[in-house]
Amino acid sequence: MTTNIHPALGEAARAFLSREHQLLIDGRMIASDGGRRTEILDPATGEVIATVVEATASDVDRAVAAARGALEGAWRKVTPAERTRMMLRFAGLIEANADELAQLECINSGKPLPFCRNGDVPGIVEMLRYMAGWTTKMGGETPNVSLPGEWHAYTLREPVGVVGQIIPWNFPLNMAMWKIAPALAAGCAVVMKPSEQTPLTALRLGELALEAGIPPGVLNIVTGFGHPVGSALAAHPGVDKVAFTGSGETGRRILQAASGNLKRVSLELGGKSPVIVFPDANLEAAAAGVCSSIFFHAGQICAAGSRLYVHERAYEPMLELIAKRANGMKMGHGLDAGTDMGPVISRRQLDRVAGYIHSGQEEGATLYAGGGASGERGFFVQPTVLTGVKPGMKVHDEEIFGPVLCAMSFDDDDLDRIAATANASTYGLAASIWTKDIGRAHKMARRMQAGIVNVNALSSPDATLPYGGYKQSGWGRERGFEAIELYTEVKAVAINLNN
Ligand code: ADP
Repeated sequence: MTTNIHPALGEAARAFLSREHQLLIDGRMIASDGGRRTEILDPATGEVIATVVEATASDVDRAVAAARGALEGAWRKVTPAERTRMMLRFAGLIEANADELAQLECINSGKPLPFCRNGDVPGIVEMLRYMAGWTTKMGGETPNVSLPGEWHAYTLREPVGVVGQIIPWNFPLNMAMWKIAPALAAGCAVVMKPSEQTPLTALRLGELALEAGIPPGVLNIVTGFGHPVGSALAAHPGVDKVAFTGSGETGRRILQAASGNLKRVSLELGGKSPVIVFPDANLEAAAAGVCSSIFFHAGQICAAGSRLYVHERAYEPMLELIAKRANGMKMGHGLDAGTDMGPVISRRQLDRVAGYIHSGQEEGATLYAGGGASGERGFFVQPTVLTGVKPGMKVHDEEIFGPVLCAMSFDDDDLDRIAATANASTYGLAASIWTKDIGRAHKMARRMQAGIVNVNALSSPDATLPYGGYKQSGWGRERGFEAIELYTEVKAVAINLNN
């Protein structure tokens, strides 16, 4: 392991990195059956910062058994109000350890520290507090049935059971909490598998949950690779639901694996989200929004605004504003003051993104800004803008998951045609509309085939707003009450009062 860890890393984060991490199963840190370990890298340097357990399928069996034990034991006896208090304590502990969590998130994911400290950490605290409120409010209903005679009928909302949660590397804290918080609120027990590249903050969250008094076995963290850990979880007959965020390819595999016991499945699979800029828009604000959406965290965001459509009357000035911002972005280590954009997660991702930029140019697109890898070490890609992009090009059709903006213009004023162009994608996660004309904004919002539409904004990170996609962007919605629905079953009880 490197002795050369970034000097801005605090004592607590340093101490955490140097630990001999284990699996968190049934409230205890335990060794794997297999005994193998994986190296965890700082993507800004490529150096090893920690090692974690590479779990096996039998470790997954143990974690699922622990979750089942908790679900049918201590956790079931916890009242909704007590669940709320535990979740609020958990949120308070995250706040108390915010610096450590933000630094760990930064050094492992590459995202600049201010985003981690002022965005991710407060965001997960809010998510926990919001979801904690639902425990006492997710009751059933008393439908007015029309059956002959006299009946009393009601519905119950019950936890779906043991849930397997599989998350990616781009937002390790947020992706974990978007899944853990509603599952806890609903009364489920969890086996979480973080990404093999960014497992550190999930392990720390697991410890804080225990410290908050959440019973052992309710939140188990199993580190390791997609296969065998994720695949075992997705296929496990003892798991009632699997929730996944990641690539479409892996999502399809999970779906197949889940079919054995027909477990519930929710999927968040990324996108190729359009940004449509009308000529009356505030171009400065739109350019800032576009740049933060596609370059913030080096474009590794499922809802990144990666396809830009600008009306031809605003196209040139808009591109100039974007290029100026892109060229002025400071790339560097997330812990260095003043860093605007960090690295992508791995050498593999760097090569993948560079391959897309190259293929875009081969297929006729023009490089307007950026274009290459950057720096001697770490996995940096320059903020890149391609113009002259057309449907059918790989850069237009496929999710790049890197800081690459595909810019196009339109000369039409027909909203149906503009929407049809923007909707011509297999994905349907997010869309962003920029205009000051309120009627046009609402009309476009209705025409977009996307689970999330932002007007004069590129993102809306609020715990109350459902998040998920149309078409091949996934199944189900996280955040909001819709997330509670993902983790509950509804039972209809009907009583014939005459018998
Ligand atoms: P990426 O390669 O971009 O990280 P993936 O969709 O492959 O995206 O990974 C997202 C998460 O899914 C990670 O935690 C990964 O380990 C996990 N994963 C990968 N393959 C499988 C699989 N076959 N079954 C279950 N989970 C998997």
